[in-house]
Amino acid sequence: MPFAPAGLPWFTFATIVGMKKSLRPTLVPCPCQSGQSYATCCRVWHTGLSEGQHAPTPEALMRSRYSAYVLGRLDYLQATWHPTTLPLDLTLPCVKWLGLEVRHMQTTGDAGVVEFVARSREAGRAQRLHETSRFVRERGRWYYLDGDLKTT
Ligand SMILES: [Zn+2]
Repeated sequence: MPFAPAGLPWFTFATIVGMKKSLRPTLVPCPCQSGQSYATCCRVWHTGLSEGQHAPTPEALMRSRYSAYVLGRLDYLQATWHPTTLPLDLTLPCVKWLGLEVRHMQTTGDAGVVEFVARSREAGRAQRLHETSRFVRERGRWYYLDGDLKTT
């Protein structure tokens, strides 16, 4: 029987240890599929938000927003959406996100575009979101502005 603190049933203890392991951020691959761990990728911007640390490029912001969709961080999506285009009724879509592929990104001064394909599944049906997003930089901070959907 594994060691368990006094008074705590061993199965509860094992469950807690198991949860801690799966939540250890250094071991979790980033949802944006950058090949890095979540801890060294999008988590930096998710947790940095409250400390005034922001994604330095449109691509980094786009990736961290995709990860926010995967992880259900509505607060991050709202905070990184430009106030002039932020939908007042923003909610998280009920889909299972499957992957992200960044196809192209370009920055011209304080404007940036990122073309990407995000794959998801909704009620068993595979979906593909192909969008060219526009970003704008204000006071050194990038915001998502809007995007054009591509029908492919
Ligand atoms: Zn990431």
